Amino acid sequence: MKTSLSNFAVLRIQAFLKKRSENSLLTMTIEQFRESPILGYVFDPNLKNEANANNPESITLGPKFFDLDAEGRKHVISHEKAHYLVDEVLSSPDKYSLLFDLVDSGAFGPKDDQGFLSSGINGQYTPLENLTEAFSVYDEDPDWLKENYPGAFSFVYSIKKENDI
Ligand SMILES: [Zn+2]
Repeated sequence: MKTSLSNFAVLRIQAFLKKRSENSLLTMTIEQFRESPILGYVFDPNLKNEANANNPESITLGPKFFDLDAEGRKHVISHEKAHYLVDEVLSSPDKYSLLFDLVDSGAFGPKDDQGFLSSGINGQYTPLENLTEAFSVYDEDPDWLKENYPGAFSFVYSIKKENDI
């Protein structure tokens, strides 16, 4: 499985991860965020889910994000950051074969009778969300990932090591 990224992708990822200092995001209220926003984040009062990383320049936060406690917010931020990273990892023409190779290798746990992921990482059932969650959990609790999803662990490990990200 190909694990090396282009130099340009690595630079983009490093820049993206570096500019974020989100510690104060873990406890601030919506009003506080609106008064002094954190670089790299925007607030959307109409966002239905907690957060979205659909733009490499910023992560969008919805009202639901501010209902979470610090631990919950931390995981949402880590997951959304991982989406950005996964976008770069998958920004090649063979991205679907990479995802399906990972699924077929059992990296995200077994498939059920109908070929769906039945016990994916943290309950995720699509290949894309599993890979995203793998990157997120790798940073939060690498030992847990290694023990429960060794294939996902070693893929993320290779990507991070080979590309120094
Ligand atoms: Zn997601």
